[in-house]
Amino acid sequence: MRCPFCKAEETKVVDSRLVAEGDQVRRRRECMSCHDRFTSYETAELLMPSVVKQDGSRQPFDELKLRAGMMRALEKRPVATEDIETAINNIKHYLQATGERELQSIRIGERVMLELKKLDKVAYIRYASVYLSFQNIDEFQAELDELKRAELAK
Ligand SMILES: [Zn+2]
Repeated sequence: MRCPFCKAEETKVVDSRLVAEGDQVRRRRECMSCHDRFTSYETAELLMPSVVKQDGSRQPFDELKLRAGMMRALEKRPVATEDIETAINNIKHYLQATGERELQSIRIGERVMLELKKLDKVAYIRYASVYLSFQNIDEFQAELDELKRAELAK
């Protein structure tokens, strides 16, 4: 790291400690050239990508919105809160792991469907019917048949 005083490139770390509950490393550095000391902070970057909507507009990722959509689909279904939390964490983890700064909303929707499919078939169908906005009853039936086939194949 470059010295902020004389811009020399050689600096050495004289002290290093975890701060912010271990999410950050604070380093005391000394310039090899002017011997001034300065502090640097390092944080692992795990940002949520922005969401690109179908009309091309961008929005910050909204966990509450994601949660609300899933809870609507899961209403009155026999699914443990703990399992729902796990599913939401799986989705968030997936979004961060892509490393993308922006993601199409459709890719997030697909991920939600994948998790709901594991949790509860009815919730999955509810979500998919809203999300994929089936054009007609045949399309919806095709999705149901597909599910039924998958169930029988287990
Ligand atoms: Zn210096």
